[in-house]
Amino acid sequence: MPSFHPPLRVLMGPGPSDVHPRVLAAMARPTIGHLDPAFVGLMDDIKALLRQAFKTDNAVTFPISGPGSVGMEACFVNLVEPGDTVIVCRNGVFGGRMKENVARVGGVAVMVDDPWTRAVDPQRLEDALKANPQATLVAFVMAETSTGALSDAKTLVEIAHRHGCLAIVDAVTALGGVELDVDGWGIDAIYSGTQKCLSCPPGLSPISFSERAVEKIKARKTRVASWFLDLTLVMGYWGAGAKRTYHHTAPVNALYGLHEALVMLQEEGLENSWARHEHHHRALRTGLENLGFEYIGKDGARLPQLNAVKLPAGVDEAKLRSILLNEFNLEIGAGLGALAGKIVRIGLMGYAANNRNVMFCLAALESALAQARSATPVAARA
Ligand code: PLP
Repeated sequence: MPSFHPPLRVLMGPGPSDVHPRVLAAMARPTIGHLDPAFVGLMDDIKALLRQAFKTDNAVTFPISGPGSVGMEACFVNLVEPGDTVIVCRNGVFGGRMKENVARVGGVAVMVDDPWTRAVDPQRLEDALKANPQATLVAFVMAETSTGALSDAKTLVEIAHRHGCLAIVDAVTALGGVELDVDGWGIDAIYSGTQKCLSCPPGLSPISFSERAVEKIKARKTRVASWFLDLTLVMGYWGAGAKRTYHHTAPVNALYGLHEALVMLQEEGLENSWARHEHHHRALRTGLENLGFEYIGKDGARLPQLNAVKLPAGVDEAKLRSILLNEFNLEIGAGLGALAGKIVRIGLMGYAANNRNVMFCLAALESALAQARSATPVAARA
């Protein structure tokens, strides 16, 4: 078997997105022990940098070893006890996964369904909370990657609190790409992923829990069903200073990468990163509309970093993506569920949100569109 050398792609799908060369270089540095004092210092720096990225002072802020789905599980397995009622807002694929998490820990999920492509409707949440006064938690996806919908997290959290509930927020695609203020909006538990707007490879899930959420975990009547994700145990590892005890072997080099990505976010400035995503989204949007693509979803509730667009008439979706991948080394995403075959999802996430990618993507699309409408690829016709 020869060594594996991946093709050089431009990643403009729903994630993973292009990884910054500085992050790749950081990950190639020598591995040290995960209890080495130098590594313990790195863990403290990562926590401080993550607090800045999330805009929080929460002591419980650190990356879970595992992808975004593990961050999601960490929230539900720690905060939901058997019999608890959780209001789950679903406006795409990932709200459905939250429901599954609630059910698997013995909770009762009350679903608030909004049409896919739309943001979560605050009024529907309010109605569900009035109808279910026994609910203790509200969960929703702030940035729905399956549709590109951006929900108003500040308002949804405020409604949850008014009804005595804590709020769990999925920020896998949100963090670094759109405004997010964990303390300012009072979010109780939040999780993200490294492979979207942080310019890192997949594999880590930054989380943050408020003091209220930690109190709720401490007051549990039942043991957390997962040993690995029991926050009280993981915090013995990620908690403050020299008392750190072995819990699991952290993915040392992946954490070098996350550290570098967070340093770059700090250098750029969080607000500047949000503005950069918006700036390139506008340019891409103008070009896509000129090519005949139509955005799904409503103005003001769309993610700049995930452009979900209907195809121009007569274009074969799978063929379009395959031409882009094979002839241009450009990856874009397919539609999921009911939107499969009808839309494509074009990511502008993290390092991938730049002028060069916008121009390259539009030029490649213009060329590929002509082929995806006709039966024969250009190469075969030449
Ligand atoms: N939540 C959202 C909104 C996502 O977009 C994703 C992945 O795309 C996940 C959760 C799951 O993250 P992962 O695939 O890293 O496990």
